[in-house]
Amino acid sequence: MPPQYLYIYYITLIMVNKSYDFLVIGSGIAGVSFAINAAKYGSVVMITKKQDSDSNTNYAQGGVACVLGDDDTFESHVSDTLIAGAGLCDIDAVKILVEEGPPRIRELLDYGVRFSTVDNVAAEGASLYNLHLGREGGHSVNRIVHAKDLTGRELEATLLMKLREFDNITILENHCAVELITGHHVKNASNQYECFGAYVLDSINRKIFPIAAKVTCLASGGAGHVYLHSTNPAIATGDGVAMAYRAGAKIANMEFIQFHPTTLFHEKANSFLISEALRGYGAVLRDAGGREFMSKYHPQSDLAPRDIVARAIDNEMKISGLPCVYLDVRHKDARTTIEQFPNIYNQCLSFGINITKDLIPVVPAAHYICGGVMVDYYGNTNITNLYACGETACTGVHGANRLASNSLLEALVFSHRAVIDAAERVGKCRNIDTNDIPDWDDSGTHDIEEWVLLSHNLVEIQSVMSNYVGIVRSNLRLDRALRRVNLLGKEIEDFYKRAKITPQLLELRNIVTTAKLIIVSALKRRESRGLHYTTDYPCQNNKKSFKKNTIVSNRRKAPMSTGLKICQ
Ligand SMILES: Cc1cc2nc3c(=O)[nH]c(=O)nc-3n(C[C@H](O)[C@H](O)[C@H](O)COP(=O)(O)OP(=O)(O)OC[C@H]3O[C@@H](n4cnc5c(N)ncnc54)[C@H](O)[C@@H]3O)c2cc1C
Repeated sequence: MPPQYLYIYYITLIMVNKSYDFLVIGSGIAGVSFAINAAKYGSVVMITKKQDSDSNTNYAQGGVACVLGDDDTFESHVSDTLIAGAGLCDIDAVKILVEEGPPRIRELLDYGVRFSTVDNVAAEGASLYNLHLGREGGHSVNRIVHAKDLTGRELEATLLMKLREFDNITILENHCAVELITGHHVKNASNQYECFGAYVLDSINRKIFPIAAKVTCLASGGAGHVYLHSTNPAIATGDGVAMAYRAGAKIANMEFIQFHPTTLFHEKANSFLISEALRGYGAVLRDAGGREFMSKYHPQSDLAPRDIVARAIDNEMKISGLPCVYLDVRHKDARTTIEQFPNIYNQCLSFGINITKDLIPVVPAAHYICGGVMVDYYGNTNITNLYACGETACTGVHGANRLASNSLLEALVFSHRAVIDAAERVGKCRNIDTNDIPDWDDSGTHDIEEWVLLSHNLVEIQSVMSNYVGIVRSNLRLDRALRRVNLLGKEIEDFYKRAKITPQLLELRNIVTTAKLIIVSALKRRESRGLHYTTDYPCQNNKKSFKKNTIVSNRRKAPMSTGLKICQ
């Protein structure tokens, strides 16, 4: 056995049935922040399905929204967030988000994050810590803290560096959570809806084993790959939402999928994001005839909220019959453009587009999921000892539409709060008896040769979602999508029961579950609001009964009785 495999084998052996205080699923901004803070209170294991930096976080460009400018106020950021959220935000959650932002940015600076400052960018206005503040759609002032247009990469690298300072954090790369361990699995559990950790697939050795933990934090990110075209990297397959749903958690607001209005239209560009910060900087959307069109749709023109810009582009493309519209930044000073957006400049150049001289062809693509596992203000789900934070969670701050750059902030603020709550819980818990957690049973499964069927299934789901559950929906389209996804779901479940599990199979199963949750939630909302637009109910309904979250849960009624109670 080559030495690297011996090492992995050894790690796997010591992992089996090991018990920790905290299990963190995911290594993006939410998971790593949670792990760093949790390490002050106990042992932590952080699993991540590929390499530690493989995350949506790593791709974030624009930055983190935060009230730091002289001309800014908490009230203004709250108000912008509520307007974008189209009447569905939880106001208290939004206030927490906004007011607890500045100390989180301070913390990041202390960890060594190198945000752009007014010294190295041509700046307007003064700000706390001398940071340069960019502008994005829906924000009434400049308030986006950023590291040029590579904010996510800078955040992820610095947070991971900080994480490695802790001896009591174990990081397991290439380990994919398969299923949460709940009372359903544990011998003599008194509460079916209590979490005891997760079954985890070691993707290299193809072994599934349990990791027991007093507290489990789902920080597994988004679900962009439910759609054919997405700005998200391959890890974003809705695993957290799907696992939590299967375990009986409440899932909220899944109909609100944010399509980023401007991703590069090029066959090889993989929906590369052209950050909204470029429009904040002065870029203008134009049709194929060179005409600016956003002023027809919204008083804020190119800086209107994302849902409006995405729908406007969709409409322009339908009118023209062309596959894209164009973003124009040619009128801005070329040197400043390259200096502020080096990533976008270089990526576009690699596809033969010089953004200082050429129009940039753009289309919308699936970008962010506003819904997720429903949590309270401290990240608690309705499953005991299970927390969720980051894109996987639904904290209530985004409502029906996320304001640009509020998601990194949300991950920071609410993961911090989740640790405060979880630390207290861990202090009260006694150790889990790992003998009560059964090993993963895969008897009767075998290696199936027809793996190609999985990729066919994936394309089918993604096509159905893109064609029928995209920016503009209708009852007819949603019903059609549900029928097809139900059928695909049955086929995949059947495959799952017979086959030895691989990461691809797990992801496919989670994608089909997430797709179904999106469709079911969309069918429940009989109005258009924020990111959910349907031609059958084209207006927002302002009756109170419509201003509520769409909640889906598969909880069965009768809880199991008897025996083992691990936590209070
Ligand atoms: C191109 C792009 C640009 C963006 N720009 C901005 C921006 O400028 N500002 C902003 O606020 N937001 C932005 N966003 C959104 C923001 O980046 C994400 O919402 C945020 O990073 C989510 O962080 P997270 O920690 O919740 O999830 P992620 O960063 O996606 O991390 C999820 C982690 O979970 C792991 N994982 C998933 N499933 C499993 C499993 N089953 N088992 C084990 N591990 C698992 C993944 O491997 C990954 O490590 C952008 C997103 C994209 C894609």
